[in-house]
Amino acid sequence: MNLDIIVPCYNEEENIEIFLNEINNALNDFDYNIIFIDDGSQDNTLKNIKKLVSHNIKYISFSRNFGKEAAIYAGLKHTKAEYVIIMDVDLQDPPTIIPEMFKYIDSYDIVATRRVTRKGEPKIRSFFARMFYKLTNKISDIELVDGARDFRLMKRNVTDAILELEEYNRFSKGIFQWVGFKTKWIEYENIKRSKGETSWSFWKLFRYSIEGIISFSIAPLYISTIAGILFSIIAFISILFIVIKTLLFGDPVSGWPSTISVILFIGGIQLLSIGILGQYIAKTYLESKKRPIYITKEDNFE
Ligand code: UDP
Ligand code: MG
Repeated sequence: MNLDIIVPCYNEEENIEIFLNEINNALNDFDYNIIFIDDGSQDNTLKNIKKLVSHNIKYISFSRNFGKEAAIYAGLKHTKAEYVIIMDVDLQDPPTIIPEMFKYIDSYDIVATRRVTRKGEPKIRSFFARMFYKLTNKISDIELVDGARDFRLMKRNVTDAILELEEYNRFSKGIFQWVGFKTKWIEYENIKRSKGETSWSFWKLFRYSIEGIISFSIAPLYISTIAGILFSIIAFISILFIVIKTLLFGDPVSGWPSTISVILFIGGIQLLSIGILGQYIAKTYLESKKRPIYITKEDNFE
């Protein structure tokens, strides 16, 4: 069988060897290659990968940290295999599931995984994650699956489809859904990472979710449009009201505080709308530069 396993690594020096051992144990009767992507780690990740390089272990090392999305893209770009697996190096994606995945691949194009629990994760983070999924699914064309991991097995046609999306702002969870294909979901409980710390701070996750919404939906733009229409109607009615009231009852000066609050409110809505618009323009700007998604420092591909 022709299988490549793509493994993004960022500052994971302690996990490389443990990961390889686990994979070897779980897949001893499989034939596979591993492609490590060192995403500009500052620790000894690359050194440790090179120490363990053998005929079936490839690596790509980035010139700096480009993010997991870029790492996945680089891996997919380099593989020619019929089957591709994407997984984390911290063993939060258990290798023991891989044989189970292959049971389904004949009748599906993708075997993907999702966490059914968020045990061991801060409560507040789980709460915001749920909110994000609810909101995105309401306003975008794609259906994101709550708890879906990037850990998945894909056939060649799926890999090719993903590679056709050459956008610079890569939101993998959205891209995976967007390309479609028949997907089998395998569920498992959340597992704590093997060594080291997660590189996702709350702020980073927040920005990532905004990224997700902007990348796959233009609904926020409607929000400003609808708010604009709504406030124009309200303004028209109140002008009419004031004109009639003045004609009938004269014009005693009053209502200064309410005027100010209306000005502030409208000002706020305007800034929000400009902000939303700005987000989309910023994305267009970045896309139009056509910068490479990653830069390789070194690799061991021929
Ligand atoms: N990762 C990466 N580049 C980054 C951040 C993370 O390649 O900028 C890798 C990391 O080494 C790991 C995987 O992506 O293999 C998932 O990262 P992490 O465990 O920090 O995220 P979490 O599991 O908490 O979502
Ligand atoms: Mg992890």
